[in-house]
Amino acid sequence: MKHLALVGGGHAHVIMLEQLIIKPCPDLKISLISPTKKQAYSGMLPGWINNTYMLETCQIDLQDLCLRAGVRFILGKLKQLNAQQQQLVLHDESALDYDLLSLAIGSQPNLVGDIAVPNTWVAVKPFDAFTQSWQTWQQQLNPKLPATLTIAGGGAGAVEIALAARHVMPYQAKLDHQIIIYAGPNGVMSGFNSKVRHLIMRQLKKAHITLVHEYIDFSQPMPASVAQPGPQNFHLRVSTAKPALYFGASELALDADGFVLVDEFQRSVSHPNVFAAGDICSRPSTPLQRSGVHAIRAGKALAYNILVSAKGSESGSSPNSLTTLQAYWPRRNNLYLISCADQSAIASYGVNLGLFNMNIALHGRWVWRLKNYIDVNFMKRFKAK
Ligand SMILES: Cc1cc2nc3c(=O)[nH]c(=O)nc-3n(C[C@H](O)[C@H](O)[C@H](O)COP(=O)(O)OP(=O)(O)OC[C@H]3O[C@@H](n4cnc5c(N)ncnc54)[C@H](O)[C@@H]3O)c2cc1C
Repeated sequence: MKHLALVGGGHAHVIMLEQLIIKPCPDLKISLISPTKKQAYSGMLPGWINNTYMLETCQIDLQDLCLRAGVRFILGKLKQLNAQQQQLVLHDESALDYDLLSLAIGSQPNLVGDIAVPNTWVAVKPFDAFTQSWQTWQQQLNPKLPATLTIAGGGAGAVEIALAARHVMPYQAKLDHQIIIYAGPNGVMSGFNSKVRHLIMRQLKKAHITLVHEYIDFSQPMPASVAQPGPQNFHLRVSTAKPALYFGASELALDADGFVLVDEFQRSVSHPNVFAAGDICSRPSTPLQRSGVHAIRAGKALAYNILVSAKGSESGSSPNSLTTLQAYWPRRNNLYLISCADQSAIASYGVNLGLFNMNIALHGRWVWRLKNYIDVNFMKRFKAK
């Protein structure tokens, strides 16, 4: 029996497990390798920070999904891949052979060259390490003393976390509970349209969040202008993404930043029995936005293509017959709902119809209700009925 190894519990694999529950695949031995039994859903994480959701509400139980999908769950972390020998080596040095491989391990903030007081900066990913560090900090925090949350990174995730944190570090004129975003020279959410950015700036101002148009240089010791390490201060990195694992020695084709190069079928351009989806992959010609929305959409094509390839290789025909595989082309415009953490949210959408080009930015409580509805219903899909 052929062995399909799914590495990482990223969105695309969660979608694949959902499909396997509906339509099992008994002719294939399938394993999922994940360093955690539960997978946090990033869209709801800011809602956990401001106490809207319990942590369990924002987590997908991977082990339970595997059980229901007839997939073997392996608690472990990929250390090394040898694509030529079709072998995985995990952190405990155990080796695993595969016939087909799929990677959904995501990305993480770039920590390379970080000498600015080791262990001071907490990376937002992996999420389980971040949630533990955040909980510990919140428990030890003395609310009567000044405290500072310093965030490096100016993307939507960084902004959502800052706004959410304001609810657990309330602004008081006499008590210095500071929240500072180091966003770089382009400011926050530079990839979004100007209307959305205007609305976001208003929210940051209202919440007394300080914006610094500089980057933190992690190759240098911590600058004196940044809150120094201490029990009242938290330093969070939500900055530029790098692959969750560097596949340099694997012989897989990678882009200049180390992301796995895939074609429109989410299949490695160098190894047709290897697939990848979500933040870990990159396309040679089409720029891919790194977002959960794309990871989920690509997941449908990924699941279909892997199963078609598995059947093809079993029947002796080519595992990558192009006529049978499903292409995934990311939409040019996507709806993003950015939580403002006060039961309101901002909707961002671009309409591009050649000559007609329109950017939509809306703010309101109904946008948050819509976001909450979408997120809660997305999570319901993976709970046992
Ligand atoms: C605070 C925050 C809020 C966000 N909100 C949104 C949002 O509202 N909408 C949106 O579209 N995007 C959002 N994003 C972006 C989104 O989180 C990512 O784009 C998305 O998570 C990528 O999904 P993925 O499936 O590729 O990987 P991930 O969701 O990161 O999952 C990767 C999985 O692989 C596992 N893994 C990692 N390394 C290994 C290894 N070596 N071996 C085995 N397993 C491994 C990890 O434990 C994890 O379970 C947000 C990001 C942040 C930080």
